[in-house]
Amino acid sequence: MSVLKKDQFVLPKGVIYLDGNSLGPLPKAAAARVQEMITDEWGEMLIRGWNKAAWMEQPARVGNMVAGIVGAPEGSVVMGDTLSIKVFQALASALKLRPGRKVILSDNGNFPSDLYMAEGLVGLLEQGYELRTVAPEEVTEAIGEDIAAVMLTEVDYRTGRKHDMKAITELAHANGAVMIWDLAHSAGALPVDLAGSNCEFAVGCTYKYLNGGPGAPGFIYVRPDLADEVQPALAGWLGHRQPFAFEQNYQPGQGIERMRVGTPPVIQLTALEVAMELWADVDMQALREASVALQEQFIEEIERDVPQLTLASPRNSAERGSQVSFRFEEGYAAMQAVIDRGVIGDFRAPDIMRFGFTPLYLDAEDVSKAVAIIRDVMENRLWDNEKYKTRARVT
Ligand SMILES: *Cc1c(COP(=O)(O)O)cnc(C)c1O
Repeated sequence: MSVLKKDQFVLPKGVIYLDGNSLGPLPKAAAARVQEMITDEWGEMLIRGWNKAAWMEQPARVGNMVAGIVGAPEGSVVMGDTLSIKVFQALASALKLRPGRKVILSDNGNFPSDLYMAEGLVGLLEQGYELRTVAPEEVTEAIGEDIAAVMLTEVDYRTGRKHDMKAITELAHANGAVMIWDLAHSAGALPVDLAGSNCEFAVGCTYKYLNGGPGAPGFIYVRPDLADEVQPALAGWLGHRQPFAFEQNYQPGQGIERMRVGTPPVIQLTALEVAMELWADVDMQALREASVALQEQFIEEIERDVPQLTLASPRNSAERGSQVSFRFEEGYAAMQAVIDRGVIGDFRAPDIMRFGFTPLYLDAEDVSKAVAIIRDVMENRLWDNEKYKTRARVT
């Protein structure tokens, strides 16, 4: 079954987009819907929009749409803030659930922001709290009875290497630790069974595979049996039981609502809501099969035609997310030269050329065309040009 919906996205002519793992493209319906929201809701309703256009319910409503593609039940996911903030919130809540323990365990391949947020929290708490990082392959050995929370990103942003969510969560629980999964490179990329994994918390972003647009809000999941128990740490007025009672003291809201902090980004959530509508009929298993087929094709053709590049991702597709990375010493310049010719991927220091595979708007022909362009750039050293070597602020 094809999951291709190419005609529903704005894909500029002459561009093959292999960076939907970093910023998804614009869904065609989003521009008109956002314009309408701005004109008819913000413009005409003004402050009445909070009730009349149900802006206040939007974080939960869109949260349910996200829940649907990560295997979470209704009412267990809420939108808001950025992923980094949601990481902080999940971590702080997790530590409160294990008052006798002081260690956050993560891996050194994790996205820096997740580690920085943990460092910041540990610094704030003092009292012997510690962030411990080990190599991704050593995580299972490092889970012991001193660990309060294990915080991992399922799919590594650089190499696409995938952790075994279910097995690691089981191990964390066997050792009495709380499990937090970051689904930044999983949500919309592959099937996720949050309920089945039994983890306590999960977080993620929506501007990558979910196509919510630059700055689209993050999400947080709390396992339903804990949702009325966790302390949200970032106690904002919209996570209060009765925001409009304006009480002096904080009382956490019902269930997942307590993980809300402040005013939601309504315009951005509107774009995201349109993007999420595209997922309603997507079979995640079929999406995964299509993604693996595109990735296998890409690896095979690159290894056949472009010997200058070395595979940095796991070769076994079962151990990969939905991206493929290759190493090349001059990877930055090479990627700029490739982008200049219409194939958009990105670069991650020190030497990784990263390509994302998103079957909603990519097919086998796109992959072959991309490989031909990459081959041209590498074979003819087109990257060896000063104009490709100056690093921009965003790589
Ligand atoms: C993309 C990404 C982030 C980015 O966080 P923001 O707060 O949304 O900027 C954080 N963590 C991981 C694992 C990511 O992949």
